Amino acid sequence: MDDALLRARAVLASARRVVAFSGAGVSAESGIPTYRGDADSLWSAGNFERFANPRGYRRHLPESYRWYRERAIAVARAQPNPAHHSLAQLEARVPDFTLVTQNVDSLHLRAGSKNVIEIHGHLRDARCDDCGRRIPWAQAPDHHDCVCGGMLRPDVVMFEEMLDERALARAQDAARRAEVLLSIGTSAQVWPAAELPLIAQESGAQVVIVNPDLAGQPAGPSVIGLEGRAGEVLPRLL
Ligand code: NAD
Repeated sequence: MDDALLRARAVLASARRVVAFSGAGVSAESGIPTYRGDADSLWSAGNFERFANPRGYRRHLPESYRWYRERAIAVARAQPNPAHHSLAQLEARVPDFTLVTQNVDSLHLRAGSKNVIEIHGHLRDARCDDCGRRIPWAQAPDHHDCVCGGMLRPDVVMFEEMLDERALARAQDAARRAEVLLSIGTSAQVWPAAELPLIAQESGAQVVIVNPDLAGQPAGPSVIGLEGRAGEVLPRLL
């Protein structure tokens, strides 16, 4: 790890174009469960079928609406951890820095990151599926009925839904131009987001992975794996 850390520091120190690509693991140390893995992970215990796709969401109303509302309130109470703060500091010293996050918890923005692409949306608002009206979750009603008669839902990209085309194109473009891509706390299994490290690799970038579990992550001569928790590794790296 120490040798890998030194190599990663060296490539980062000279890089002018950097992309950070983050997943649920970055917020694990803020107390927000990841998607897969632990018994208390978000999509265990039947939650996936009930809440993760638009069909399940409709079928399980109003429980699904209330589940997202509770999640939104819980993430609003969570605090950014040293991993979020390190990435905000990195942005201040790299001329061309883009943070592409799969997270919906807004913790990067709250830590001060500015050029952030929230590729899977966010949990700041509920959105009406019919009229498009947005309501901050703290002011959202108990039930899922919008004043227009439509259905309120979270402003996130659920499984089986399309990503915002412009956001995806901006993220892909940044990955193509990057000299270094940091992939942090993601199992890199959810497509098309998971393609970003591969796009960077194919375009000649150095890829640095930060994860306590490096199994199944991209590998090869252009990849440096840093095994450990993001909140501990990133402050040491940066
Ligand atoms: P995932 O659950 O599939 O993978 C989490 C990864 O984080 C794993 O590889 C795990 O080994 C790693 N990890 C666990 N603890 C870590 C730590 N302390 N430091 C660094 N890495 C750690 O999550 P994913 O890859 O982001 O899956 C994609 C989906 O998860 C996205 O669609 C995203 O919207 C969603 N999601 C977001 C949040 C959030 O906003 N905080 C939470 C859960 C899931």
